[in-house]
Amino acid sequence: MFLTIGTTGTLERPATDLGFLLHKHPGRAQAFSTSHGTAHVFYPEASAERCTAALLLEVDPVALALALVRRGKGKGRGGAPDAALAQYVNDRPYAASSLLSVALATVFTSALGGVCRSMPDRAGAPLPLRIEVPALPARGGAELVRKLFAPLGWERVEVGAVALDEQFPEWGDSRYVRLVLEGELRLADALRQLYVLLPVLDDAKHYWVAPDEVDKLLRAGEGWLADHPERPLITRRYLSHRWGLTRQGDRALELVRLAESDDLDVDSVDNAVDESTDTEEKPVPLAEHRRTAILEALRGAGAHRVLDLGCGQGQLVQALLKDVRFTEIVGVDVSMRALTIASRRLKLDRMGERQAGRVTLQQGSLTYTDKRLKGYDAAVLSEVVEHLDLDRLPALEYAVFGSARPRTVLVTTPNVEYNVRWETLPAGHVRHGDHRFEWTRAEFREWAGKVAERHGYTVAHLPVGPDDPEVGPPTQLAVFTLTDTEIDKKTDKKKEAEAA
Ligand code: SAH
Repeated sequence: MFLTIGTTGTLERPATDLGFLLHKHPGRAQAFSTSHGTAHVFYPEASAERCTAALLLEVDPVALALALVRRGKGKGRGGAPDAALAQYVNDRPYAASSLLSVALATVFTSALGGVCRSMPDRAGAPLPLRIEVPALPARGGAELVRKLFAPLGWERVEVGAVALDEQFPEWGDSRYVRLVLEGELRLADALRQLYVLLPVLDDAKHYWVAPDEVDKLLRAGEGWLADHPERPLITRRYLSHRWGLTRQGDRALELVRLAESDDLDVDSVDNAVDESTDTEEKPVPLAEHRRTAILEALRGAGAHRVLDLGCGQGQLVQALLKDVRFTEIVGVDVSMRALTIASRRLKLDRMGERQAGRVTLQQGSLTYTDKRLKGYDAAVLSEVVEHLDLDRLPALEYAVFGSARPRTVLVTTPNVEYNVRWETLPAGHVRHGDHRFEWTRAEFREWAGKVAERHGYTVAHLPVGPDDPEVGPPTQLAVFTLTDTEIDKKTDKKKEAEAA
């Protein structure tokens, strides 16, 4: 899967500035691993006059098939592994599909967000751009491709047929087109259009793509989607693509409409999609139950210096800040985007010195040991473990319980048994597209028990949310406490270090 982004320039405003805007150096070929394969970024040409960046996604068909089988397991629709595999013995590695869209967002996150600290004025201004996608699956035909891109400010939208086999023109055209876009647009706008429209044109269905799709669509669609004549089609296809034509998809559409008219904030979208229940009175969102349970457990453990690992958009950090007993709060996340939103939510830039001194947000991955995380009273992993592939869990386990080693660790995760109770969740689906797994109560206890044993902790389990007599609570919370002997060992080590 392949696309190129080119621009032209002059000696004063060199085209190679594109490298800054994309946050990728024109002199280097770089590779990034994504969940479906390796994404390469390189520059076929890079001079002051002309500069072109290429994004090539080398799909790992085996990983893809495995992911599909794993996710398809027990899912009814497209659930049989054979059917799933058959879907992938196809053109996926070559055609620019939704996987390329995911890669685009992974590799060019800052550019997509319009962020460029070194050249903010260039990021904010239109550039002469040329984008080429040599093989674009065109569900709906060339005509639809034209309809989708024509209203978006391009001077030239060229949609050419791609022959099935160039050596045998008599075989006719394939279902792919070659797309060339030329015009003066902000780079971020162009990337956002591709991010949304590539999956809209792709007719394969996936269930594993990232969470918060409504939120993402709203963000990526900012400034161009609301007035697009094909908006209903784009929204419907984008979301049904990500969710399947399910009730949750319909619910999401409703929310998109609401959000467009109402500027609904991101959190209420999340809550409504994931945590709505069917009760008549307004239910307390599950996220709130979770935060309350976490705060109580932290207070009970006498924690003052707390790590929020995988802090996301900072809701828990915000709640912790409200209680003065938490003297030091560190939010860690791998996603810069989440951290940016968290910092906005907390109004870090406008906070008084005293408050600001209590809180730090830092980027980091929990699958690597990190010295900065040592020496805290407690660590919280709220709804984080299920976002990691199972084979990365031992790395997280070591980083948290082996290396950072706070006295208390709180882990929350969905209880998959409860999923049958969600009105909006189609049977067999996990709660988020990005959940790599969801555990039963027994599975979580088994994991937690082993972790505790390996690292010298005890573990207690608490329900969060309504504890259903049959299927248990929607969220499970494990409270790990370092045993006294381990605490003694830690104190001894510290004393030794001080003495030395
Ligand atoms: N703790 C928050 C967010 C949960 S969503 C809450 O309870 O609402 C999961 C978060 O984990 C996301 O923000 C994601 O970016 C982060 N995450 C996933 N893998 C991670 C990793 N390896 N290292 C750090 N953060 C990670």
